[in-house]
This record gives sequence, structure tokens and C-alpha cells, in this order.
Amino acid sequence: MKIHFLKSQLLLAVVACLFLSGLADAQVQPMVDIQTPDTAGVGKPFLASIVSWYPLEDVRVQWNGVEVRPAVSRDGQRYVAPVLLGIGLREEAGIHPLEVSVSIWGRTYSFALSVNITESTWGHETLTVAPKLVKPPLEVYARIKREREMIKAAITTVTGTRYWKLPFSRPAKGKMLSRFGLHRVFNGDTKSRHTGLDFRAWLGTPLYAMAAGRVALTGSFYYAGNAVFIDHGNGLISLSAHMSKVLVNEGDMVRAGQKIGLSGATGRVTGAHLHLATFVLGKVVDPELFFVDGMEELINGK
Ligand SMILES: [Zn+2]
Repeated sequence: MKIHFLKSQLLLAVVACLFLSGLADAQVQPMVDIQTPDTAGVGKPFLASIVSWYPLEDVRVQWNGVEVRPAVSRDGQRYVAPVLLGIGLREEAGIHPLEVSVSIWGRTYSFALSVNITESTWGHETLTVAPKLVKPPLEVYARIKREREMIKAAITTVTGTRYWKLPFSRPAKGKMLSRFGLHRVFNGDTKSRHTGLDFRAWLGTPLYAMAAGRVALTGSFYYAGNAVFIDHGNGLISLSAHMSKVLVNEGDMVRAGQKIGLSGATGRVTGAHLHLATFVLGKVVDPELFFVDGMEELINGK
């Protein structure tokens, strides 16, 4: 994987390191490199990597009001703690602080950086669905509320283990249909946003986990239909929706590319397809950047 090195971010890290550690050799070689894009779009995930020649421990990242503790792995002689971050589709552009602390040989080093989040542009589409799915009947309000709470608990899970590995594999063989972020008009008047990425998948087509993880939640939901939520670790969760059949159970560990269900048309749909959504630290972001063609933007930003 090519990592574009950003001087401005490194400089900040060096200055913070000098200031906090007082180590003379930090002038020669920074103890910690923090690699992030300078700029990312609203609704787009990005990769931050905390890298050191020294043994990193207790890495903590504060982003958008949430703390995540990315797992540390070895990359040759180096220690690397990658973490997926982002600003949700419905959040604000602007300068967002990124705070990192690490422990090296029992000593804590803290770094204050920022990422400039800029507006993204999204397309439009119009759709026609059963009226009860746009304006749900009163009797299902309690169900929708209950499901929203279960889903919120699943998508805001931030665990300390990282199961994911970039790039992710395709969750369905069919081509991409509706992209993430679209401004949608249902039945001529009701407006909403498309919070996932749709793949063509005829009824009964196998669907796959895009990355390894633990099945966090399954069920039959009013909007998402038969759905699987997978916790890929370190704050990344995926949702595969509208299945005809779910083939995994809550608590199961899954591999990247493992069959997790069959496509269907359950929930709020116009026909059988896969709706894939991804959440970082509880915020919905564009899944497309996790696939091989999205790596450049995921790592280097806009
Ligand atoms: Zn969709």
C-alpha cells in the first residue's frame, strides 16, 4: 500500500513530540509519525496511521467526540496502528481536531493535529415505493423506534480489536447501482438521503462479508429488512440489508468473503438488491472508499 507522506502533519507531530518529551534526538528522528490526509470530504472515511520504529502501546485516538484505541501491529521493523475515521453524511464541514496519544516504554506522548473536512457533492434520484414504507402506519412506530435503538447500539460499538484489512472485498458479484449520498425523492415528495451503496443482486444471490469481523446484530427490520451488522473492529461496522435469508448468527466470527446471506427484497425496497452501509465511530460514511478503487482517496483524502 502506498502511503503518501504529509510534511505538514509530520511537522506538527515533531513539534508536539519535542515539546512534550524534551528528547534531544527527536530533532533527528521523530518518535511517532502520524499519517493522515490534510483534507477529506463530508461523508467520506479516511485512514489515519500512527507509525513508529519504537514499540507503540496504548494508542488512543480522539476524533469527533469519540475515543478509539487502534490495535498495534508490526510492519517489518515498524509498529503501526491504523484507524479508520470520518465525518458522517449529515455532519458539518470544517476543521476537525484529531488527538493522538501513545505510550512508548512507559512514557506517554500526545499529539494535536487536525483534518480539514470539506463539502462533498452528491447526485440525485427519484424512486417509487409502497406508500406505507415512506410514511409508516402508526402501528409500526413503536417497532421502528425499538429497532432504531438496537441499530444505534450496534453501530456505535467501538472495540479494541481490529479485524479489518484493506482493501475490502466486494460483498456481491453484481455491479454497483445507486451510490452513497444521493439526494432521493420518494413517490414525488418525500426527501431523504441514500446512506449506503447498492449492488445488483437478483433474488437468492450469495452475499459476502466485505471484511472479517464479529456478527453484532441480525434481525428483520422495518426499513433494512433481513439484515446483518458486522463489527469489523476499532469502530468500523457494516450493514448488509434487504436479504431473503440470513446465514449467520449474532456472535459468529466471519472471514472476509464469507457468505453471510442471500439477497432479497425485504424492508424498504423497489426490488431485490444489496444495500451496504458502513459506519465509523457511529457515523455513516461512503463504503466505496474501502474497495480497491477507493484506496487512493481513503489514504490521501481529496
Ligand atoms: Zn441502498
